[in-house]
Amino acid sequence: MEKTNDKNVRGRFAPSPTGPLHLGSLVTALASFLDVKSENGKFWLRIEDSDSQRSKSKFIGLIKQQLIDHGIVWDVWPNLGHEKDGVIYQSERQHIYSNFMYYLSSVDRTFLCKCTRKSLSQKNHLVKYLESGEIRYPQICRNRKGTCLSQVQTLRLKSTNRDDFVIKRLTTGDFSYAFTVVIDDYLQGVTRVVRGDDLKFTIERNRQVQTILGFPFPTILHVPVVRDCNGRKLSKTDEHSKLLGGKFIKKQITQSWTHLRKNMPSSWIEKVTPAYETFFF
Ligand SMILES: [Zn+2]
Repeated sequence: MEKTNDKNVRGRFAPSPTGPLHLGSLVTALASFLDVKSENGKFWLRIEDSDSQRSKSKFIGLIKQQLIDHGIVWDVWPNLGHEKDGVIYQSERQHIYSNFMYYLSSVDRTFLCKCTRKSLSQKNHLVKYLESGEIRYPQICRNRKGTCLSQVQTLRLKSTNRDDFVIKRLTTGDFSYAFTVVIDDYLQGVTRVVRGDDLKFTIERNRQVQTILGFPFPTILHVPVVRDCNGRKLSKTDEHSKLLGGKFIKKQITQSWTHLRKNMPSSWIEKVTPAYETFFF
């Protein structure tokens, strides 16, 4: 039985294991945790390790430990083997993404593309970019007939906004973030997404997929990313920015909370303050 004051609010933290968590990741994890816990909801942890080139298994245990050390404890996703700690892993869900991909193809919303980054850069006059610097694909292969399979690089979505983004990279077998995140959020019943504002550009991509698949749109809240003193976004692959343990834990939580108080709407801060005081005092 769900608690009566549980409004079925569901949120998640979904890091890629490309390095240890840094202060920016902690800010996002804390924001999402407080957002959900302030409404007695469930908070899932999902390891987004579908990028087989960049994900490293050694960081998975470290990330989980860093979260626990900082008092950010996830709810257990049911029906998993106990060695999974209630966490879902995208690398084990490829069959699920494939099923949704086949569905998109069956309703004629995908196409095979043989363009590479290099071939696109040579057609610079055709290529447009999103504000984030991501390529807005110029639809070269969209209506191509009889593409030679050995030349195919990616499977793309036929979008309605001229941003035919990648669903799957056939060269590596990896599904794209913009696609998998939508499937998992739907299957985990996620109603609220809190993420860094560097991912803002994926909203339109998410919505394209959600619309075709008939998924509801979760509420999305963007947190301004944390920058170093040179104004650069912190990176998981930069050893210097990783979270520290021991006596630094409390300080890092306080710093994260200060970042949220400075940058988030005051109505949201007011909503989550009691949860902050309950879990972190
Ligand atoms: Zn192409």
